[in-house]
Amino acid sequence: MTKYSGGCLCGQVHYEIEADPIVGLQCQCGNCQKRSGGGHTSFIVFPKAAVNLTGAVKYHGVKADSGNMSTRGFCAECGSPIVGLSTGVPEKIGIMVGSLDDPAQFVPQVVAYASRALPWDRIDPSLPKFPQMPS
Ligand SMILES: [Zn+2]
Ligand SMILES: [Zn+2]
Repeated sequence: MTKYSGGCLCGQVHYEIEADPIVGLQCQCGNCQKRSGGGHTSFIVFPKAAVNLTGAVKYHGVKADSGNMSTRGFCAECGSPIVGLSTGVPEKIGIMVGSLDDPAQFVPQVVAYASRALPWDRIDPSLPKFPQMPS
């Protein structure tokens, strides 16, 4: 049964997910700022095998502080951020919450790279914060 679905702004990328989330994450790292054009990215981590992704997704990877390759997948046509991948956790995939058909499904649980937070990027102070990526 499809529990989550979503896609990009132009509609050519679509996904359906048949699993419960592993964790809901806000990441304030410098890479996420560049990639989102904002103060952080918000994503839900799922088992990769449970995500059925269709459409032309373009991937771009950079080396993270950890030494892992951190890769973002975005619509090749409209550029909407869709997924995040890391070679450190190859069995998992992050879904960018703005791409969900119902982004209100996102439940933030953890803030990563809070050490890089910009002074104006305020996230729920009751959430546990990690200076880097929690493992
Ligand atoms: Zn698109
Ligand atoms: Zn990040």
